[in-house]
Amino acid sequence: MAELTRLRLPELSATADLLTIGATRIYRVADMEGIGWPVKAMFGALMPADLAAAAEKLPEGAIDAVNATLDLSFNSYLIARPDLTVLIDAGIGNGKERPDRPAWHRRSGRFLDVLTALGFPPESIDLVVNTHLHADHVGWNTVHDGQGWRPTFCKARYVVPHAELDHWSALHAADPSGATLHGAFVDSVLPLVEAGVLTGVETPAEIAPGLSLEPAPGHSPGMAIARLRTEAGDVCFLADLIHHPIQLVMTGLNSNFCGDPTQALVTRDRILRRCAAEAAIVAPYHFASPAFGKVEASGDAVSLHYFPVSRDDIILPAGEPELS
Ligand SMILES: [Zn+2]
Ligand SMILES: [Zn+2]
Repeated sequence: MAELTRLRLPELSATADLLTIGATRIYRVADMEGIGWPVKAMFGALMPADLAAAAEKLPEGAIDAVNATLDLSFNSYLIARPDLTVLIDAGIGNGKERPDRPAWHRRSGRFLDVLTALGFPPESIDLVVNTHLHADHVGWNTVHDGQGWRPTFCKARYVVPHAELDHWSALHAADPSGATLHGAFVDSVLPLVEAGVLTGVETPAEIAPGLSLEPAPGHSPGMAIARLRTEAGDVCFLADLIHHPIQLVMTGLNSNFCGDPTQALVTRDRILRRCAAEAAIVAPYHFASPAFGKVEASGDAVSLHYFPVSRDDIILPAGEPELS
């Protein structure tokens, strides 16, 4: 009922994944992927011996134990239904000043070109969800038009959990220097508030037919996961509930960025076990392609089974004249 297709976009040197469930298509589109992320920059508490042991239990390439790096991705998910086009989370963005995050500083990625090549130019997006407001989830909320930052998705309503917006708004009010969220609050959140297109919602909330936000606090105070009802069961967009498959092998491991580590652990365990009990499809934000999978719980252990890729498609730019 659910089929996974690997999409190749040679003109853009990009790949994406497409999960098709009846008339619903869900695309994984990465703003950044294939990154060898230093382990210490993600899991400061992790010891080298534990890393090597975990690498043996995970798919090849998930961990490079020799160089102490993790294969990390930054995945937005685009839901395309006949009635609705939704973007879940919004990457790092282009041209953002992030001097204390060199990998995110003044980028010029082709995320919007990939979306457009897949058939989704910015004006086609109806709804943008920010699961939380960390800088790597809100970047494409805005683009610079030469004068200032304006909403990228000009016809979209943007939604964020109320508690999340309140939290970071209060921090920005206490320190208006622009430092909040490495600069992202000022260049990627405030312009939406000023344009009147950002809505804070109390979670849990149904934000569109069959699409809801559910509270998942811990990593960030107001973070939510998104849940989409489909004819193949629910698809849960896990945001930063979990950052890397190593956290399924080492269940006590939190990222350096989890604001309330104890709460993050409790929330992760609760939601993953519920996904397992419901046989929901999961779509984590930072997992490498294919990212989509199902979790299984057995005793203390929770494991992830990736969807097999059943097809390969090449996407060429539309309307380009063929050379003869
Ligand atoms: Zn985060
Ligand atoms: Zn993140």
